[in-house]
Amino acid sequence: MAAAAAATSTAHSLLLQRPAAPRAPAATASSLRLPARSAKISCTAVAAPSASSPVTGAGDRGVYNFAAGPATLPLNVLKRAQAELVDYHGSGMSIMEMSHRGKEFDAAIKKAEADLRALLAVPDTHAVLFLQGGATTQFAAVPLNLCAGPSDPADFVVSGSWSDKAFKEAKKFSAASVAWSGKDGKYTALPPFDDIKQNPEARFLHICSNETIHGVEFKDYPEPRNKSGILVADMSSNFCSKPVDVSRFGVIYAGAQKNVGPSGVTIAIVRKDLIGNAQPITPVMLDFKTHADNASLYNTPPCFAIYICGLVFEDLLAQGGLAEVEKKNAYKAGILYDTIDASGGYYICPVEKSVRSLMNVPFTLAKGPDFEKQFIAEAAKEGMVQLKGHRSVGGVRASIYNAMPLAGVEKLVAFMKDFQARNP
Ligand code: PMP
Repeated sequence: MAAAAAATSTAHSLLLQRPAAPRAPAATASSLRLPARSAKISCTAVAAPSASSPVTGAGDRGVYNFAAGPATLPLNVLKRAQAELVDYHGSGMSIMEMSHRGKEFDAAIKKAEADLRALLAVPDTHAVLFLQGGATTQFAAVPLNLCAGPSDPADFVVSGSWSDKAFKEAKKFSAASVAWSGKDGKYTALPPFDDIKQNPEARFLHICSNETIHGVEFKDYPEPRNKSGILVADMSSNFCSKPVDVSRFGVIYAGAQKNVGPSGVTIAIVRKDLIGNAQPITPVMLDFKTHADNASLYNTPPCFAIYICGLVFEDLLAQGGLAEVEKKNAYKAGILYDTIDASGGYYICPVEKSVRSLMNVPFTLAKGPDFEKQFIAEAAKEGMVQLKGHRSVGGVRASIYNAMPLAGVEKLVAFMKDFQARNP
C-alpha cells in the first residue's frame, strides 16, 4: 500500500498551507492549471509559470544544470552576490574578508535566520543552527546529542543510500536498529507507516525525507512512537522545496548545496528541549548546545555560504513562500514523470508513483546502458548537463531543485520525446 495513501489519514497535517493542487507525484500540467506547452529543443528559455517568478535560469548561462548537488542556484541570487562581492554594502570588503563578529555579517546571519524562520514557520520551540561538516556530520551529531550513550536505542527507516549511511554512522554512538528497510525492493518504495517496527524505548525515529540517489520522497511523515516522541529527518535534498510542519520534528538537518546555497553550511533546526544533553564524548563542534548558545558563532562559521543561503531565502520569500515554490516544483516534476509514463516503457522510473521525488527523478532506458550513455551525451550537447545517474545505481537522474527553471524541464521533456522518436 502506498505510504502517502496511508499517511493522508493521520491526524496531523504534513504541510502548512498545502495548496489546493493534488499531491505532487500525481501532478500534471492540467491539474495545476498551467498551460501545457509543447517545448521545442532549443536554447531559448520559456517563461516560468508565474509572472512574479524572478529570473532563475541556468538557461541564461547556456546550460541547464541537472546536478544533484552542488546544484544550480537562482541566477538572480548569483548576480546579486556578484554585484556585492567586492564591496559588501559599502564596507570596502567582501563578506568573505570581514570579521564574522562585525556588524555587516551579524546583520546577514540574523536576516538569514529570520527569513528561514518565516519561510518554514519555524516555531519558537525550535532553534536554527548554521553548522559545518555537511549532513554527513549530522549522522554522528544526532545520536551524540539525543542518546545518553552507545547502548541507547534509536530507530531508522532505511529507504535508500543516505538513510543507510546515517544508520551505519549512528551505530557507533547508539544502539541503532533498522525499523524498516527498502533494500529488498531496491529502494523504490516507502512503507505503510504501521509497518515501521518502532521500538518504544528508542530515543528517536530517523528518516531521510528525500533519497537523493533513489528518488524516493516522503509525502507525509510517520508519527514517532518512542516515549519522547522524537522524529528526526535528513532533509538535505528537499529542504525548503515545500512547506513542512516543523513542530512535528525533533531535529531537521540539511546540507545547503541542493536547494538553498553552496556547500559548506549545514542547517539544523532543533527542538530546544533536546539541546544540552549530549554524550560526554561529544566533540564541542558536534554539540548542538555549543552552537545554540553562541547563535552559530562559536567559531568562524562558513560566512560566505550563510550569506548566499540568506539571499536564496529572500528569493524564496519573494516568490510567495514555500507553498508557491511547491506548486512550481510539482508542475515541473509532473511533466517529467508524465513523459516517462507515457513513453510506453521506453523510459522507466522504478519508484512507486505515490512516493516519487519532486527533486530527483531517476530513470533508465529500456534499450540499456549504451543508449543511456548516448542520451546523456546528446543531452549535454543540447545544453542539458549533469544528467548521469549516481555511480552506485547508473541510469539517468534529473535533479530539478527549486532553482531549475520550468524551461529547463520543458526542454528535457522535449528532448526525451525527440530521442525516443529518433531511436525507436
Ligand atoms: N543526505 C542526503 C539526502 C544527501 O543527498 C547527501 C548528499 N548528497 C548527504 C546526506 C550528505 O551530505 P554532505 O555531502 O553535505 O555531507
